[in-house]
Amino acid sequence: MVVIKTVGVIGAGQMGCGISHVSALGGYDVLLHDVSADRIEAGLKLIEHNLGRQVARGLIGQDAMDAAMARIKPAAELQAIGATDLAIEAATEAEDVKKSIFKALTPHLAPQTLLASNTSSISITRLASATDRPEKFIGLHFMNPVPLMKLVEIIRGIATDAGTYEAAVNFARSLGKTTSNSEDFPAFIVNRVLVPMINEAIYTLYEGVGTVEAIDTAMKLGANHPMGPLELGDFIGLDTVLSIMNVLHEGLADSKYRPCPLLVKYVEAGWLGRKAGRGFYDYRGEVPVPTR
Ligand code: NAD
Repeated sequence: MVVIKTVGVIGAGQMGCGISHVSALGGYDVLLHDVSADRIEAGLKLIEHNLGRQVARGLIGQDAMDAAMARIKPAAELQAIGATDLAIEAATEAEDVKKSIFKALTPHLAPQTLLASNTSSISITRLASATDRPEKFIGLHFMNPVPLMKLVEIIRGIATDAGTYEAAVNFARSLGKTTSNSEDFPAFIVNRVLVPMINEAIYTLYEGVGTVEAIDTAMKLGANHPMGPLELGDFIGLDTVLSIMNVLHEGLADSKYRPCPLLVKYVEAGWLGRKAGRGFYDYRGEVPVPTR
């Protein structure tokens, strides 16, 4: 049985920071890598901010926050991640980006290192094929925001062995998460159901069935969703939503998964949602204002 003590996280965006945050709070030593020192620095600041919010709410003590921050170290070079027990890739949702990360990392891996991807939709079997160890490769799909959301979807590729699966489930449980198994098909379970709903909400906006506010209010109050679908799309990141729709469309070859042209337009404009300051809402003022 593999013993996980050190965790490497590749990608210091919203998900990589969340995974580093919960891993450090769970007692693991974390190495955080991104394309530039500035991005890693911004990630560390975000983690500190989010831990601070948990302290302010009385969810964790200041001592736990300090200990967690001390466990997270920047890794300017990708190679350093190769020495960890579990390397979790949480970079941009694009297959070529993820494959090139795994190809570059493979020569530096220690024999025991397990590999995981936090991909929302891309085939674990295909990503594993870019490495020297498909049997030690697994999908660990955390939900956003990672510190709050209870689920981790576990996706075994065709070659993932039992020891890797057991280690991944134990790791997720050690962070206080509940796991749910999905077969390795496009977008797995959560996003196979959720993201077409967001895409359909964008179609209702595109076709003029409702305004941004009407659609989000309707789904919050009418379906008891905590966030409206357009607000949720902005929260996930519209680039990620579009990538997932493309994976569903190409992977399942069914026209019901075609991405809404309005979603494509927002992504082309760089209006990617909250992380870009603008999406279906403009977040640059005091309160979010619909952009249509
Ligand atoms: P993000 O845009 O916030 O962050 C992505 C980060 O990856 C950026 O900091 C970027 O600089 C970095 N990156 C890009 N190329 C890289 C490379 N070659 N090496 C190292 N770092 C690189 O995106 P995110 O929302 O954090 O999503 C990351 C992953 O998590 C995606 O696979 C996404 O599908 C998945 N995911 C996202 C959500 C969500 O709600 N946003 C939920 C679950 C899973």
